[in-house]
Amino acid sequence: MRIVLVGPPGAGKGTQAVRLAKELVIPHISTGDLFRANISQQTELGKLAKSYMDRGELVPDSVTIDMAKDRMEQADAENGFLLDGFPRNVDQAKALDELLTTEGIKLDAVLDLEVPEDEVVKRIAGRRICRNDSSHVFHVTYSPPKKEGVCDVCGGELYQRGDDREETVRTRLEVYHTQTEPIIDYYKAQGLVVTISSLGPVDEITQRALGALKREKAEQ
Ligand SMILES: [Zn+2]
Repeated sequence: MRIVLVGPPGAGKGTQAVRLAKELVIPHISTGDLFRANISQQTELGKLAKSYMDRGELVPDSVTIDMAKDRMEQADAENGFLLDGFPRNVDQAKALDELLTTEGIKLDAVLDLEVPEDEVVKRIAGRRICRNDSSHVFHVTYSPPKKEGVCDVCGGELYQRGDDREETVRTRLEVYHTQTEPIIDYYKAQGLVVTISSLGPVDEITQRALGALKREKAEQ
């Protein structure tokens, strides 16, 4: 299956992407990983991307698209892929369509993880991260540490990332509404959008997504 995953910040996109890719036995292609891999391997695209980043400029869509193209052409992506973080605007979605047409393939579904805005704010603003290890993550309501402000794993101090503050979250949501949400309409016109609720336990959301993707595939 060839899938594009979309959803606002705080929808649990990263978590679901990893789980769905594993269940469907397709590579999870995230723009974050693409950038990191190209930069650390010092590919031409990586060097180009870094030159923009070093100047504090946005990396042009064309660079991101070329990185995604390279990755989608690798052997493990032959039977499908799950794109996460790309496309993030309508221009990129159009470029992706052109690319897929050239390769003679098409998307099977655009999975849209839906979560109410207030829930997004609650999820992100409640996040607390360990100063010693950023993989030690807690939540003031959903997974509180045994002792407030202290990491259960290593005893480190817990803090809130600047990105996770409520006003920053609202700004990130605004960017999502103006830039990324239009791609949902773009794909709706192609009949590709599958919307599921991203509320509830992580396992349930994964099962809900797999069920919805299966139905979508069966209809085609
Ligand atoms: Zn810790």
